[in-house]
Amino acid sequence: MTSFTQEELFEQSKTLVPGGVHSPVRSFKGLKSTPRFFKKAKGAYLTDINDKDYIDFCMSFGPLILGHQDPDVLNALTQQLENGWSYGACEPYSYDLAKLIVDRISFIDQIRFVNSGTEAVMTTVRLARGATGKNKIIKFNGCYHGHLDSLLIKAGSGLAGTPEASSAGIPQEVAKDTIVIELGDFDSVEQAFKKYPNEIALVAIEPLPANNGLIPLQEEFLRKLREITKQYDSLLLFDEVISGFRVGFGGMAEKLNITPDLVTYGKIIGGGLPVGAVAGPKSVMEHLSPIGNVYQAGTLSANPLAMVGGYKTLSKLTAESYQEIEKNTLLITQTIEKWLKEYNNSQFSNYNIIQYSSLFWLVPGKQIQNISQMPSDLADNFVPLFELLLKKGIYLSPNAFEVGFASLAHNQEVCLELERRLWNELE
Ligand code: PLP
Repeated sequence: MTSFTQEELFEQSKTLVPGGVHSPVRSFKGLKSTPRFFKKAKGAYLTDINDKDYIDFCMSFGPLILGHQDPDVLNALTQQLENGWSYGACEPYSYDLAKLIVDRISFIDQIRFVNSGTEAVMTTVRLARGATGKNKIIKFNGCYHGHLDSLLIKAGSGLAGTPEASSAGIPQEVAKDTIVIELGDFDSVEQAFKKYPNEIALVAIEPLPANNGLIPLQEEFLRKLREITKQYDSLLLFDEVISGFRVGFGGMAEKLNITPDLVTYGKIIGGGLPVGAVAGPKSVMEHLSPIGNVYQAGTLSANPLAMVGGYKTLSKLTAESYQEIEKNTLLITQTIEKWLKEYNNSQFSNYNIIQYSSLFWLVPGKQIQNISQMPSDLADNFVPLFELLLKKGIYLSPNAFEVGFASLAHNQEVCLELERRLWNELE
C-alpha cells in the first residue's frame, strides 16, 4: 500500500482518475477537508490510512445493513471463494437468492439480477416500454434512480413543462420523453395522463424518497399513483434501491400494502457486493429476453460470490432484527439530537433529525414535503457540522443531501461511544 498522506493520495489520485474519485459524492466537493481514504472496516467502524477510526453512518451508502464484515457473510464469502467467483454460466446460488425473495415478497413472481441499482432501473425502463409499447416516463423531482439517461432529468427552468437533462451528454430527444413532477403533486400527474393518455409507459418513484434528504410521503399519494397507472394501462415502478430490505424485508410496498407493477432493488440485496434486481409479476417479467423481446444481459450478472453475499445477508434479516435496528437508530438519533441542541452555545440548535426506520437525515429547520422547500443554505450549514464530526471520529455521508444509514452493528455499545465522542472536547 502507498505511504501517502490523505491529501497526497487525493492529489495523486486526481492525476489518474477524474476528480480523484470513482463516484462523485465521494469527492467531498463543497466541504473543507479532502476525502478520507479508508483501508479497512469492521462492525460500525471505518479505519482510515492513518489508523484513525470513525463511527460510520454512511455504511457504503446503504448496503451494509448487518454492519461491515458480518461474520456469517464473511464465512459464506470465504467458502465461496474456494469454488470460484464467476462462471458466466448457470449456477445454483442465484436460485437460492431468488427463492428467498419470491417466497417472502408476495407480489414478486420473478426476478432478474443485474450488477447495480442503475442497471436495474435502466432495465426496468426498457422493460416497461417494451411491455406497454409506450415511450414516456413520469418521474418526480428530487427522486434519484441512478445515472441512466432517461431518469437523470429535471424539471426545466425555461419553458414550463419542458424537461431538462441533469447532465451534459443526455440528448434533448431523450429528455423530452421524461415528464418531471413535484413529489405529492397529484394534479400534475392527472394532467400528464390526460395530455398523453396512450403514451406513458412508466411512473417511477422512490416510495421513500431518500436521495435529497429524507422525505416520507403521504401514503395517499402513492395509492393514487397506483390507481391512475392502472386506469391508463401504464406501469408503476417502486424504486426500492434504498428502502428495499431496509424498512422491512418487503420494503415500502409491503409496509404500505401497495403493489407496484415493478420493483427495483440494489444495495442491501447484495450485502455490499455489486447486485441490483428488477422484480415483478410473471406477466411483465417474461417480456425480458430470452423469452420476450426486451433485450438485457450481463457478463457478471448473478456471479456466485455476489449471490452468496446477498443470500447470507438477506437470510439474516428477521422481524426481530428490524426491531433491533430501529430501536438502536432511535437511540442514535436521540443522542445526536441532544448534542445538536446543546453543543457549544447551541451552535447547531436549528438542526432537526428526520428518522424513518434505520435512515436519518440532519436538516436545519422543519421536515420538508418536496424539494422546492429545501433550505437554500443547507449545503453551507452542513460544512462546519460535517467537519467537526469528522474530527471527532464520526463519519456522516459527505453531502448535506445524503441520508445517514444505521446497521445492526450500531448497537448500544456504539451508541455510548457516539455519545462519548460527541461530547469529548477536541484538543
Ligand atoms: N435508485 C435509487 C433509489 C438509489 O438510491 C440509487 C443509488 O443511490 C440508485 C437507484 C442507483 O444505484 P447504484 O448506485 O447501485 O447504481
